[in-house]
Amino acid sequence: MEHKVAETNGEHVHSMKCGHTKLLHNGHVDFVESNGHLHHRDGDHFDECEIAVDSNNPDQESVVIDSEIHNDNCGHQKVIHGDHVDYIVNARLQHVHGDHVDDHGTVDPIA
Ligand SMILES: [Zn+2]
Ligand SMILES: [Zn+2]
Ligand SMILES: [Zn+2]
Ligand SMILES: [Zn+2]
Ligand SMILES: [Zn+2]
Repeated sequence: MEHKVAETNGEHVHSMKCGHTKLLHNGHVDFVESNGHLHHRDGDHFDECEIAVDSNNPDQESVVIDSEIHNDNCGHQKVIHGDHVDYIVNARLQHVHGDHVDDHGTVDPIA
């Protein structure tokens, strides 16, 4: 996998106590930036990470019945998934697709 060092985000250093959403992902912890980018610690710096489109997180048509149509202000955390942005809802990825929301599989948030 490509090793891409994350741009530093001001003085902020992620920790288990920082306010960012944390996801357990492939054996490491990712911190979810407000723009949906994932950063995980690699020694003394943070690397960019991303949730791949795969069998666990398919880019699929799977309509979530009665879901709200998420938006920038709905309060759910955005996360980049493949070539699009999803929202984390109850440990699942939800993708706004026109007038409905699709389920894109599970993620593992750390409380
Ligand atoms: Zn943080
Ligand atoms: Zn990751
Ligand atoms: Zn759809
Ligand atoms: Zn929402
Ligand atoms: Zn997705």
